[in-house]
Formats: sequence, C-alpha cells, structure tokens
Amino acid sequence: MGSRFFKNYAGYKITYPFGKREILGQTEHHTGVDLVAVAENGGALSDWVCAFDAGEVIEAGFNSRSGYYCKIKHDETLSTLYCHFKKDTLKVKKGDRVERGDVLGFMGSTGRSTGAHLHLGISLFGEWVDPEKYFDKDLSEVNKLTLTHERRVLRRGAVGDEVRLLQTLLAFHGAEISTDSSFGPATEKALVTFQKSREIEADGIAGPATWQELMKITKRS
Ligand SMILES: [Zn+2]
Repeated sequence: MGSRFFKNYAGYKITYPFGKREILGQTEHHTGVDLVAVAENGGALSDWVCAFDAGEVIEAGFNSRSGYYCKIKHDETLSTLYCHFKKDTLKVKKGDRVERGDVLGFMGSTGRSTGAHLHLGISLFGEWVDPEKYFDKDLSEVNKLTLTHERRVLRRGAVGDEVRLLQTLLAFHGAEISTDSSFGPATEKALVTFQKSREIEADGIAGPATWQELMKITKRS
C-alpha cells in the first residue's frame, strides 16, 4: 500500500520545499517540492512514482534539467510535473491517458539532481503553486481552493507571478497577449476589454470582482 505519489511505501518526506532558496549565493525559485519515499524504519527510499490524478500525458521525455520527466494535464486549469526518473523506467508517452495512482516511472537522479528523488510540480492556471497544499486534495477540491484564493489588486506597473496569472487568465478568456509577468499597456487594454464583456467597471485594474470573473473557467468534463 503506497501513498499518493509512491506505489509501495506509505510514507514520504519533503527533502526540499517549494519557494525561494539560496544556491551558491544566488536566489532561485524552486517551482515544486522534492520528495523521497520513506520506509517504516524512517529510511529514505526510491519507489515507483504514481500519477496525482487522472489526466492526459502532454509531455514525456528527457532534458538536461529535469532528466527523464513527464507532465500530466488534469483539466484546463491544472497540470502536474514529475522529474528525475531513473533511466529506462518511464512508463508513459505523450498522448497517454492515465488514472490516479497509475505508475509513471521509477524515482531516480537523472538531470540536474544530486540524489534519487521526485521533483513534483503542480501548475494552476499556468502558475506553479506549493504542491504540499494539494497533497490530499481531489481535483474538484483543488479548483474550489483556487477559486477562493484571495488575489492581490493589480494595476499597470505591477510585475511578478500574479501578473503572469492575470495574463494567463486573460489569454484563456480570448485576449491575445503575452504572459511576460509585466502589467503594461497591452495587459491593461486586454483587461478593460474583458471587464466590458463581463459588465464590471472597466477601470483596467484587477480587483476582487475582476478576479472572480477571470476565475470562472469552464472545466473539461
Ligand atoms: Zn526540485
């Protein structure tokens, strides 16, 4: 009996959390969590890695950073990323349909890695979020959590991940803008267009009412 992520071992341990970290004097944003499976005696172990939830494999292969990896799209808003599989153990390919708990590959240390672990990333609306908050959640719950998540008021001049989320959502609703994380004239214009289409005050500022409308995403069933 395994855990949400591992086939055989019920325990797991986070060896590196989500968020900013210092590496050789440089600040880096860790976009997921690093995990190992844990045996009953507390020892760290490798194990077969399982799919977070049902979905479609949209990427599977190798690159120098992620090693052997795969990415699963669960619905229009949510996808998960699994990195550093052991060579020749990747069990899925692009286009495959997987169910929750299906085996994806064996934990390894390929790519930019110093020891066997699973790098797990969860992306919501194109934004990396802290996977730990979603470990025990089902897809429907994840979406509910996202919708109730409070967002900052954003206006022209703002930069950062939340601006990228805003741009991603505007694009999702049909705007042709780039997701460059910088709230400039193009983003403002797209936002005004969106606000007009939803009959909310067209002030070009992303406040609570605007976020609420932006988050109304039609889920693929
Ligand atoms: Zn990692």
